[in-house]
Amino acid sequence: MKLARLDAGPEIFHTLQGEGVSVGRPAIFVRTSRCNLHCRWCDTDYTWNFKGTPWEHDRGTKHDKADVTFEIAPAELASRLAAMPCRHVVLTGGEPLLQQGELLEMIGLLRATDPGWSFEVETNGTRVPEPGFDAAIQQFNISPKLSHSGMDEALRIVPVALGHFAAHPRAWFKFVATGPGDLEEIGTLAEHYGIAPDRIVLMPEGRTAAELDRSAAKLAAAALERGWRFSDRLHVRLWGDQRGV
Ligand code: SF4
Repeated sequence: MKLARLDAGPEIFHTLQGEGVSVGRPAIFVRTSRCNLHCRWCDTDYTWNFKGTPWEHDRGTKHDKADVTFEIAPAELASRLAAMPCRHVVLTGGEPLLQQGELLEMIGLLRATDPGWSFEVETNGTRVPEPGFDAAIQQFNISPKLSHSGMDEALRIVPVALGHFAAHPRAWFKFVATGPGDLEEIGTLAEHYGIAPDRIVLMPEGRTAAELDRSAAKLAAAALERGWRFSDRLHVRLWGDQRGV
């Protein structure tokens, strides 16, 4: 399977969940490589924005695919995770649902020796999980992409997948908002797909504490008004946009 490469190894790190409903929870993050979307402000574009591809990104830098990819077998990934001091894992990307089969194999290997392993998945909400993978995951964090991502609506909004997660008892919806237009777009999506207000988590956009501060208070008030949740971005407060923490 394909993970993002960080220095000489795969991008796997022990940290605190930085956003969403489990913010502050200790977790091991596993960053898969590859994504089916190509958002223009993506902060992990090294998982998909490779040399020779036509995608546009705000930074304008292309990555050498071999340099930023780490190939690893599910058994090897399980063994690396088992050696770490935590039994809660966040599967992120890129888009982890592109590699469900391999991830499920890894989960099975870990749970064979310790059933206490738990897993969260960060997904863009464009793929319906396979039943076996779905059953193995304790929490789905869905981040549907809004029009400011630069993606065509037909690619970023997949009704069958959003409908699946809207009715899912273990799914939460996280939205990064930059202004009032985003709030309207989120409200329209929530109404159309029947997403309950307390399953929506609003977050400010920013890669530094100063950038978060520009909109955090306004967005918190907007969330309160609508019955949505609000999450700051703890990892940005603590570590800025450093990788591997
Ligand atoms: S869906 Fe997420 S990982 Fe994929 S391009 Fe958009 S922001 Fe990046």
